[in-house]
Amino acid sequence: MKIAVASGKGGTGKTFVATNLFNVLSGRGEKVTLVDCDAEAPDDLLFFEATKKNEFEVTHQVPVINKDACTWCGRCSSWCNYNAIFYVPTAKVIEVIENLCHGCGACCFACNTGAITEKPVVLGMVSSHMTDRGYALVESRLRVNEMSPVRVIKAAIKEAGDEGVVLLDSPPGTSCPFIQTVDKADYVLLVTEPTPFGLSDLRQSVETLKTMNKKCGVIINRADIGDNGVRDYLGEEQIPLLAEINYDTAIARSYSEGRLITEKDDKLAGFFAGLADLKRVHEVARKFTSEVGVIINKYDLNEGMADRIEGWCAAQGSTLLGRLPFDRKVTEAMVASRSVVEMHPDIEISKTIKEIWNNLMVNGKE
Ligand code: SF4
Ligand code: SF4
Repeated sequence: MKIAVASGKGGTGKTFVATNLFNVLSGRGEKVTLVDCDAEAPDDLLFFEATKKNEFEVTHQVPVINKDACTWCGRCSSWCNYNAIFYVPTAKVIEVIENLCHGCGACCFACNTGAITEKPVVLGMVSSHMTDRGYALVESRLRVNEMSPVRVIKAAIKEAGDEGVVLLDSPPGTSCPFIQTVDKADYVLLVTEPTPFGLSDLRQSVETLKTMNKKCGVIINRADIGDNGVRDYLGEEQIPLLAEINYDTAIARSYSEGRLITEKDDKLAGFFAGLADLKRVHEVARKFTSEVGVIINKYDLNEGMADRIEGWCAAQGSTLLGRLPFDRKVTEAMVASRSVVEMHPDIEISKTIKEIWNNLMVNGKE
């Protein structure tokens, strides 16, 4: 399963979410790979102790024009959508501006005289690293002066493979690099902030994802600043608000030091773990059944999060079967190798479990 972590604009906390999610999942022994798709400014590696395992160049084919064979028809220049061919026939000047070339091959196709051949040019690098926990982190890195990271991103995602959860730390914005990244994703986590700028960029991201038929949910970072515009918009569009993370100087400090907040904040570690679990189980269940039911366990430990999970389930068309409270008697029963329903039949959690089961049986038969 591929999950893209994206944002309409830079600086909202996209890398913060992607790296912490990766940290929590790898800490639990899950099969997970992180791909830094922000090829123009990759920085995920800064947060991990990692060893480089391999590296390769990503190239594309750039035209080479033989002026002796050129008839100065101008077709190559007019076919180029990227203004990468500088053409002044009166002065007998024709040059390829390599940095603007996207390697699309259109000019080669357009030339009827065979005056154009191609040569490989390095666009960037893809490197694979192993973290100290033994998990793969793949980095895409665009070469300085190159204009488009799309091929480098594509190569990095391919290098990561399909096993387990693959987290794609997307480039900011909604242009080609973003589209290349989210196109490969099963689900998109959009990270935003509750400001007019955040809302404006979020709208653009959502509209782009709609045209791609991609499901998304939103995390509001620095949720306690700004206004309610983002929340109102999500309500109108029925987009699940997955979580709100308040501004905290501890988060800002650890981020600026290249450290992960989930290493030292259990509450946030629990939040990231819950976020990953619910989506993966949901996707797996969808592959085998037509309906998915969800039970929220220990809901009373974080009722706000439980409400958001409920909203997310509704947006996915899943049934919320019930909420179970935290109760130490469950642990007692587990230690005694018995079920809590058997050992403590009259406590709230046992009654709720029976109620869920009865409803499930009635609805299942229907
Ligand atoms: S390969 Fe494509 S982008 Fe490059 S110069 Fe030719 S037409 Fe333009
Ligand atoms: S299409 Fe070929 S012949 Fe025409 S201007 Fe370009 S290189 Fe010269």
